[in-house]
Amino acid sequence: MASMDKILAAYKERVALHETGTSPFAKGIAWIENKLVPLHEARIPILDQGFWHSDLAYDAPAVWNGRFFRLDDHIDRLDASCDKILLKSPLPRDEMKRILCDMVSKTGLRDAQAVIIVTRGLTDVRGWDPRKLVNNLYMFVKPYGWLMQPENHYAGGSAMVARTVHRIPPGAIDPTVKNLQWGDLIRSVLEAQDCGATYPFLTDQEGNLTEGPGFNIHLVVGGVIYTPDRGVLQGITRRSVLDLCKANGVEIRVDVVPVDMVYQCEEIFLSSTAGGILPITKLDGAPVRDGKPGPITMKVWDAYWEMHDDAACNFQIEYTSP
Ligand code: PLP
Repeated sequence: MASMDKILAAYKERVALHETGTSPFAKGIAWIENKLVPLHEARIPILDQGFWHSDLAYDAPAVWNGRFFRLDDHIDRLDASCDKILLKSPLPRDEMKRILCDMVSKTGLRDAQAVIIVTRGLTDVRGWDPRKLVNNLYMFVKPYGWLMQPENHYAGGSAMVARTVHRIPPGAIDPTVKNLQWGDLIRSVLEAQDCGATYPFLTDQEGNLTEGPGFNIHLVVGGVIYTPDRGVLQGITRRSVLDLCKANGVEIRVDVVPVDMVYQCEEIFLSSTAGGILPITKLDGAPVRDGKPGPITMKVWDAYWEMHDDAACNFQIEYTSP
């Protein structure tokens, strides 16, 4: 746990230092209709189809220790999401990147989450035909978000398999398009809360494991990591896990994962840009094996944060604000 101590302590120090800053955007910033505003003052036009019908695609890259992590991979996924539902970002990539870096710089945040949303646009401009609307872009930057609070990474979180709701089928909403149609995911959060758990796992209609609200799922069985190949967002953190497993000689398979496997596995962890690798040590109220984060989970945890020092995955943001 030495590297966990080091990484989380350094993060806490950066947060404490940030709290002494004086930027008017220290708590977050939004870019709406070409203007920058403090995040909590940001408003979206009520007639935007993004609000009205969740007709949008989005992505959410992170900044860690003053560097954007895999930003181009996130923008590639955003472009792919947009292509699949016939949206187009009104800004070219370089301009988007320039504005995002400027936004992070203005907040002074060394650890942040950026959110980029492309919506269909306003309905009252040219009528209902989705192909005729002028697509909108909204961006904001806020302090780094954790799906599992850092102090809970030591003991791990508590998950459950949702019984009252399935993940919406890919034939209805394509999960590889990063979207905000979270009706099924929110129902699963409510069910988990009722059962005293934090992280619901959703299955598809065939009894296979898919994903949960904001995360991909990974199981260790016989020393091999399995992660579902269908019904899921192709997470950028999951891609990092695939990359680091390859580099460290850990076997990983992207495959059909029948839900029974969660009850037979040795370890469980989640992956998400919002917190990285999240150990799960309790399932359906019972401990997973000895109820502690497992050795493979911890190896992946360490390697994931090490990747944040790899110049191939990151670039430094130039800060104008302290
Ligand atoms: N699955 C869903 C439904 C998500 O919303 C997310 C992230 O928000 C993920 C998986 C994990 O993706 P990433 O690793 O790119 O954050």
